[in-house]
Amino acid sequence: MSIRALSISLACCTLSLASLASAANTPPPASVPVVLKAAHIFDAVSGKLADHGVVVVQEGLITGIGPDAKIPANARVIDLGDATLMPGMIDSHVHMDGEFHEDYYKGFFEDLMRFPAEQALYAAKYAKETLEAGFTSVRDVGSTDFIAVSLKHAIDDGVTEGPRMIVSNYAIGSTGGHADGQDLLPTMAPPYGPLQGVCNGPDECRAAVRYQMKYGAGVIKFMPSGGVLSLKDPVDVPELTQAEMDAIVSEAHAWHRKVAAHCHGDLAAKMAIQAGVDSIEHGTFLQDDTLKLMKEKGVYLVPTLYASYWVGQKADTYPKPVHDKALAAAAQSQIMFQHAVKLGVPIAFGTDSAVEPHGLDAQEFWLMTKNGMSPADALMAATHAAAQLLYGEHGQKNVDAPVGTLQVGKYADIIALPGDPLKDIHATEHPLFVMKGGVIYVGGK
Ligand SMILES: [Zn+2]
Repeated sequence: MSIRALSISLACCTLSLASLASAANTPPPASVPVVLKAAHIFDAVSGKLADHGVVVVQEGLITGIGPDAKIPANARVIDLGDATLMPGMIDSHVHMDGEFHEDYYKGFFEDLMRFPAEQALYAAKYAKETLEAGFTSVRDVGSTDFIAVSLKHAIDDGVTEGPRMIVSNYAIGSTGGHADGQDLLPTMAPPYGPLQGVCNGPDECRAAVRYQMKYGAGVIKFMPSGGVLSLKDPVDVPELTQAEMDAIVSEAHAWHRKVAAHCHGDLAAKMAIQAGVDSIEHGTFLQDDTLKLMKEKGVYLVPTLYASYWVGQKADTYPKPVHDKALAAAAQSQIMFQHAVKLGVPIAFGTDSAVEPHGLDAQEFWLMTKNGMSPADALMAATHAAAQLLYGEHGQKNVDAPVGTLQVGKYADIIALPGDPLKDIHATEHPLFVMKGGVIYVGGK
């Protein structure tokens, strides 16, 4: 390496360390206290709706709640009228580095030709759309080129607008499996390795986890079973051995990171649960005994119903192998969800946004309520329950999450939905007010 190249690379490293150190520099919230009022307020802990909603916000935090809250003399009062105040919503399963394309082949080509910096600009647009849809926190469970972690830093620094993000970096899985995003011929591009999440054998899988954590993963995502949108693999088979899954999960837990397991197939889910995962994503073909095991062990289901519904609707736009898998998943996911609700499996809201266009996250709600979940439970899945999944450590109960509830001392991540969302769940699709960390992004004029 030349002296010049070395000095450039050192300068680059100094810069990135500096930007990491300033990651907490979110845009300053209004210094004037704000009082939010609305006809109703939703308590995400009890699932109850109360009248005369009042929330006091100062310096980015909730400092008072309820009709008896002390109102600071200089407060700006925003009366949202016939609306419901509730915590900012949380999507536990998104991918900010990409988006559905009506023309699969054109989308494939564009993905191939865009530089990571170019793709990151699209990611910033997706993040803004997600925030404006009322989702003030997301968990990004799989992105390429470290785009999601870069986006997270830019949002934390106030450079661009988006939700709070917990990111996994690359998802981890075997060669040829759902995590292996290198679909080009080996003569055209080198195969992926542990840095890009592809591993074979427990040692490589540990290395893959360590790389993601080294570069900022706050959660580890891995692929025990096949996927719908991947070209080569069957959707429901295990794609990792038990020893590989054990290595991935134990390595992540050693760093106090939770682990999300992509599972359509039942056997893969059973193996992942044995390895100690914190959530099963999708869960399409899960059997009742597996769902019961999840309830027993407190493993969350992140159902992504809208993604399965979407790929079913769009099946004809995919190549033949994906088309067939999409129809099979679409036919089963809602049935599995009905069983999960009946059995009392803990459920955290998640959409797989990117499979469908960003900003449509709230479409998940009507599918949840159509398939047996009460509107109150659905709202809790997207607030309190999701916060329990995103924060804390493996096995921890009653996590004191900074988001997901309207309580004194929590971040002022607050939205208002028109009318009463318990009577009309579609209200979630049209937030008329969105605040994150005391900063207003939608409404409040
Ligand atoms: Zn996903």
